[in-house]
Amino acid sequence: MSILERFSYSGLESYKKCPAQFKFRYIDKIRKPDEGIEAFTGKRVHEALEFLYSEVQSGRLPFIDGILDHYEDIWKRKWHDRIAIAKRGERKEDYFHLGEDCIARFYRKNQPFAERVEGIELEMDFMLDGDESYRMKGIMDRLDHDGNGNYEIHDYKTGKRALSQNQADKDGQLALYQIALEQQREDVQDVSLVWHFVRYGIVVKSKRTKEQLQQLTGSMKKRINEIRLHEKQGSTFPAKESILCNWCYYWEECPQKQGSNPFIPNYQ
Ligand code: SF4
Repeated sequence: MSILERFSYSGLESYKKCPAQFKFRYIDKIRKPDEGIEAFTGKRVHEALEFLYSEVQSGRLPFIDGILDHYEDIWKRKWHDRIAIAKRGERKEDYFHLGEDCIARFYRKNQPFAERVEGIELEMDFMLDGDESYRMKGIMDRLDHDGNGNYEIHDYKTGKRALSQNQADKDGQLALYQIALEQQREDVQDVSLVWHFVRYGIVVKSKRTKEQLQQLTGSMKKRINEIRLHEKQGSTFPAKESILCNWCYYWEECPQKQGSNPFIPNYQ
């Protein structure tokens, strides 16, 4: 059995982009205290929206001020001294306000939050093809269900780039959650995949056919097999340089780099 027993979509994507980075993070389990401010902001916005829907689920409709106060509170509480701003000229406050804007826009667009929300921040533990040796994990931002087997899997994105319809139709992450959902519930009739690009208030929806889900399962299994083969043979996980190196915290470990990442010097 591989030392990696459960895979995630983001882990498998990171293997595709740079096998060396994948190895440092997921096999060697080298944890860095550093965090990019984009990721930090994204997590706080997710938590604020989670709070919003947990209030709605408890029968309360919070005012926007209450959500923003919660956001400010968790931002301050979770702030630490290894958060990097890679882009020169940008400040901590800019990102804090960006998060506020995302939440306020989402609130305006979605109130009074009448969707039938079944779960928020749902942890998924599932198998590809029902095979125990291909276990996956993931967290669904939100799951809606109309009570008649029609589900919607929602995902919030705070990043700069919104997916085009074509990209959403090919994206694997929410499709994997659909596989998990269909494995865990018997009443699934129809599943929509819904992305909220909260920076712009853009919503993109997509659906998958059975064949597409099978194809995705096949490609994920293939990647897992490749990783296991590398591990078994003790072969190197190649370092693939790209623009993503600018956001990588493994320069000290990376055979292609020297010293620490100069793009992440700006601790606040
Ligand atoms: S610095 Fe670049 S090549 Fe090296 S591990 Fe990170 S992403 Fe890969």
